[in-house]
Amino acid sequence: MVLAQLGGSISRALQQMNNATIIDEKVLTECLNEITRALLQADVEFKLVRDMQTNIKKIVNFDDLATGHNKRRIIQEAVFNELCKMLDPGKPSFIPKKGKTSVVMFVGLQGSGKTTTCTKYAFYHQKKGWKPALVCADTFRAGAFDQLKQNATKAKIPFYGSYTESDPVRIAVEGVERFKKENCDLIIVDTSGRHKQEAALFEEMRQVSEATKPDLVIFVMDSSIGQAAFDQARAFKQSIAVGAVIVTKMDGHAKGGGALSAVAATKSPVIFIGTGEHMDEFEDFDVKRFVSRLLG
Ligand code: GDP
Repeated sequence: MVLAQLGGSISRALQQMNNATIIDEKVLTECLNEITRALLQADVEFKLVRDMQTNIKKIVNFDDLATGHNKRRIIQEAVFNELCKMLDPGKPSFIPKKGKTSVVMFVGLQGSGKTTTCTKYAFYHQKKGWKPALVCADTFRAGAFDQLKQNATKAKIPFYGSYTESDPVRIAVEGVERFKKENCDLIIVDTSGRHKQEAALFEEMRQVSEATKPDLVIFVMDSSIGQAAFDQARAFKQSIAVGAVIVTKMDGHAKGGGALSAVAATKSPVIFIGTGEHMDEFEDFDVKRFVSRLLG
């Protein structure tokens, strides 16, 4: 997949630097230029890439490095750490606790994989002994409730929704109340999407959030949207208190850079990635593991 190409290009740049007889400013600049090219091609936002380059140059200051320092190692570590930093906003997201009720609201554009991801998230926790439940507060897209119902039934997860009620706030509140009474510990609210960031979508999101007081808002983003990732994620963050990100369709032709941009734009960590259409194609996201894998 294309994500591997990004890792391959960065690894190659580091390897070329490694092969140089003497590591000097020129070699470092060439290496960083290669890495910059790879990141931009992978749709990482320009400013992030520029900041990374500046930071590495600061860390690897040839005037300060005494002879005998292993410059190759210092550069490699700096690249690794900077990539990790891009993916780590510095504060963890709210983590629901098994046995204690949490409300988690999912937001994202239509087609991002929001409904699918709600079920994956529920199923993931159910397998670990949680008691999740799904609420379909998407009254905008025809068929949304049927889709959630089908997924939930397949996974044997309780669900709530309506074919006739058109007020998403009402459904969300009713669903959350019902599952609180049933002592579910993870109440997942799926909300409407739109094709683009529209005022109506954001207003609806805010209303559902105000009425259900979620402990965590998860922003679901399709990894294949490319350079649009940063602006899209930022638009959501400006409208609602996004606390975590799930990046979907990482199995496809995604270039992977979107994940880095989404973290930067929302200042929230990626907590899971979607790697396929099936319920169990869902992985925990660990920054160091992800970057290590990226660099091979
Ligand atoms: P929503 O409109 O945001 O609720 O999006 P859906 O959940 O309906 O998903 C849109 C399409 O993306 C569906 O065909 C899903 O099967 C597909 N999809 C969701 N997540 C993934 C993923 O991680 N990988 C792949 N390949 N497809 C996915």
